Amino acid sequence: MTGANNTGRFAPSPTGPLHLGNLRTALLAWLFARSAGAHFLVRVEDLDRSRVRPGIEEAQLADLRALGLDWDGPVVRQSERLNLYEEAIFRLKTGGYLYPCYCTRAEIRAAASAPHGISAADRYPGTCRHLTARERSEKEASGRPPALRVRSEKARIAFEDRLLGRHEDEVDDFVVRRNDGSPAYQLAVVVDDAAQGVGEVVRGDDLADSTPRQLLLYRLLGLPEPGYAHVPLVLGPDGSRLAKRHGAVTLADRAGRGEGPLRLLGWMAASLGLAEPGEDPTSRDLLDRFHPDHLPRGPTVYAPEE
Ligand code: GLU
Repeated sequence: MTGANNTGRFAPSPTGPLHLGNLRTALLAWLFARSAGAHFLVRVEDLDRSRVRPGIEEAQLADLRALGLDWDGPVVRQSERLNLYEEAIFRLKTGGYLYPCYCTRAEIRAAASAPHGISAADRYPGTCRHLTARERSEKEASGRPPALRVRSEKARIAFEDRLLGRHEDEVDDFVVRRNDGSPAYQLAVVVDDAAQGVGEVVRGDDLADSTPRQLLLYRLLGLPEPGYAHVPLVLGPDGSRLAKRHGAVTLADRAGRGEGPLRLLGWMAASLGLAEPGEDPTSRDLLDRFHPDHLPRGPTVYAPEE
């Protein structure tokens, strides 16, 4: 992290309990920030109302506390910041950077071509980019509300990641406001990280492919860009990203098997080369041992049933 007054963050989505992979990412975000004397914030990314589940936010925060990960100031919820996102959308609209898109998911998938970076099905082929006024009013008349997409002009955006090195991709015309009127993740995360003064984004490396899109938004909105450290993931025994279906993967599941939070912190620390196997250090102990340059670059496998 550069500069002493920087800020880091962890931004969970309250859609299900945090598993050891999510928690290890939280630990790393906390270690990056705290070892540099930076602030650390928690932001609840609860914009996707159809996936938010009651009680999950509280359980996630309790897990962070149980691991000894503290944060500064009140927890911020995206659902309480809709005006900020609308203001950014308004600015993008005024700048001529947005257009309405009437496509359904199935139409996009059918039109998608060869994959590169973000999967082909997620990459927008540009169908609604050049609609005439007449075509637009026909679509309008069909009653399907449009999403808003960014005119990316196929910008190629590169960034230097603290762990992954140089990463570059072409940006597609991605959605900034979904057709149900809610702001998209890509927009909200940029607006919030900028508004909250986040200087280094530490998150799972499954999000590295989203970063060029987000950097395009920083540029279009004239916001200062953060640095990035995309950290390796925890995988299940089958080699896919750790998930509930792999078994007992949450703090609550592990408590049911007699393993307390400190034991799990010990496992995470050992998997990051910060502790000996079986040792149970506290989060404070780890602060003295942590150095970003010495982190493992590859994923770790967690076998919950062993
Ligand atoms: N809310 C996102 C998630 O839980 C994380 C977003 C981010 O860190 O940029 O996957």
